[in-house]
Amino acid sequence: MSKNVIIVGGGLAGLSAAVYLSRAGRTVTIFERRRYLGGRAVTHLRHGYRFNLGPHAFFRAGHGWNVLRELGIPVRGGVPKVRGFGMLGTQRFKFPGSLWSILTTSLFGLKAKMQMLALFLRIRSIDPKLYASMTVREWIDANASDERVRLLLEAVFRLATYSNRPDLQGAGAALAQLRLSIRGVVYVDEGWQKIVDSLHSAAVASGVNFVTSSRVVSVDHEGGAVRGVELGGLEIEDRKDTMSLVMPDMSDPDKGTRIPADTVLLAVDPSTARELVRDVDWPETTAVMMSSLDIALSKLPQPHNTFALGLDKPHYFSVHSAWAQLTPKGGALLHLGRYGDGGTEEELEALVDELQPGWRDLVVHRRFLPAMTVSNALVQPDGVSARMKAVTPLRGLYVAGDWVDEGGILSDAAFASARAAAKAILAAG
Ligand SMILES: Cc1cc2nc3c(=O)[nH]c(=O)nc-3n(C[C@H](O)[C@H](O)[C@H](O)COP(=O)(O)OP(=O)(O)OC[C@H]3O[C@@H](n4cnc5c(N)ncnc54)[C@H](O)[C@@H]3O)c2cc1C
Repeated sequence: MSKNVIIVGGGLAGLSAAVYLSRAGRTVTIFERRRYLGGRAVTHLRHGYRFNLGPHAFFRAGHGWNVLRELGIPVRGGVPKVRGFGMLGTQRFKFPGSLWSILTTSLFGLKAKMQMLALFLRIRSIDPKLYASMTVREWIDANASDERVRLLLEAVFRLATYSNRPDLQGAGAALAQLRLSIRGVVYVDEGWQKIVDSLHSAAVASGVNFVTSSRVVSVDHEGGAVRGVELGGLEIEDRKDTMSLVMPDMSDPDKGTRIPADTVLLAVDPSTARELVRDVDWPETTAVMMSSLDIALSKLPQPHNTFALGLDKPHYFSVHSAWAQLTPKGGALLHLGRYGDGGTEEELEALVDELQPGWRDLVVHRRFLPAMTVSNALVQPDGVSARMKAVTPLRGLYVAGDWVDEGGILSDAAFASARAAAKAILAAG
């Protein structure tokens, strides 16, 4: 085997795998189709405000935390308190996110309080693997009879996993994530771009080569082994945050540039992986989606309203700047979300009207991101649909991303699979 590794995709997965591999002596080249690195972890600076791509929270005890610690990359920010409102119809209740607030919220009667307290304590010590063959809906059916307790459970599963598909989602992974979220999350100072930039610096320091604005269009293979990649034309991006346009390579319209390599790591989404290598039996995946309204205000009209969660509707509201450095002095950055692939800007604006009246006169910048892919693969119950592993059946081909199963979900899965892929590449010689 040669010591050269090609990584396709410069998001968190591609970048962290590159650092592991280059530090271990491999010659690593990352091809990224966009002009910039970071993928969905990018942060856009607008008028001094740092906009992550929708609400991003870093799980403090997750795989991502361990990977970044191993790589010597600090994650700084604030740990938000789950203190605010639960929204049920037009009613607002103290959010029952702690033992004390479960006891004191008017959301529950006495019986429901006892049921919720018992569940709250049980979830902390539960073994999620025991429930891997159930859906979230089946787990709730088996464990909660009170209607409001059931609504709260659905809401906290949404909060922890971003998924609004209790009938499809596996209870094992969802419970594991809920336990992780109880241990706390960090809203990252300066946005997730800070993590991207630190990974980039570490990669540069260890000699990784970067080729941006460059799309890989196929992976060449022969006799069951990888032979290299083919590059497409130059990418020209338009001004929108998320759009890009591919220009064909006019110098040779029939053939792109071929680059030989016997080790390729695809740190891309599963549909791109499928396009790049048609002969691998890729599993079907169901994406986890969210629409997000991100708003920068010159000042927060209601400084005490920093968090609210829909109980009967899949709504999210959090003022991330209340906990992390994301704005100029006195400013505020809010994320509103609707879990799932639907939702309108108007419905999220109506929430801000209620929670932060007067906000419309204070807007510095805002954007609505409909139907974003939060995760490329919903984790389903065992036996329904398995995620891909980092080592593929094709010799020399590896995958990493939030759809690859080496532990965790969301960015934790991206980090865990990046580490697993790098380890496997190094072990292969
Ligand atoms: C609204 C929203 C909220 C989120 N909230 C959280 C959260 O709270 N906590 C959490 O842990 N995670 C969260 N996430 C998920 C997290 O952002 C992702 O899991 C993580 O960024 C995925 O990293 P990745 O490297 O696997 O994939 P990506 O970031 O998607 O990177 C893939 C890269 O590959 C490039 N690429 C694709 N095709 C090609 C090609 N053919 N050639 C070259 N390059 C290519 C892409 O341009 C991209 O840069 C959220 C995501 C969204 C959208």
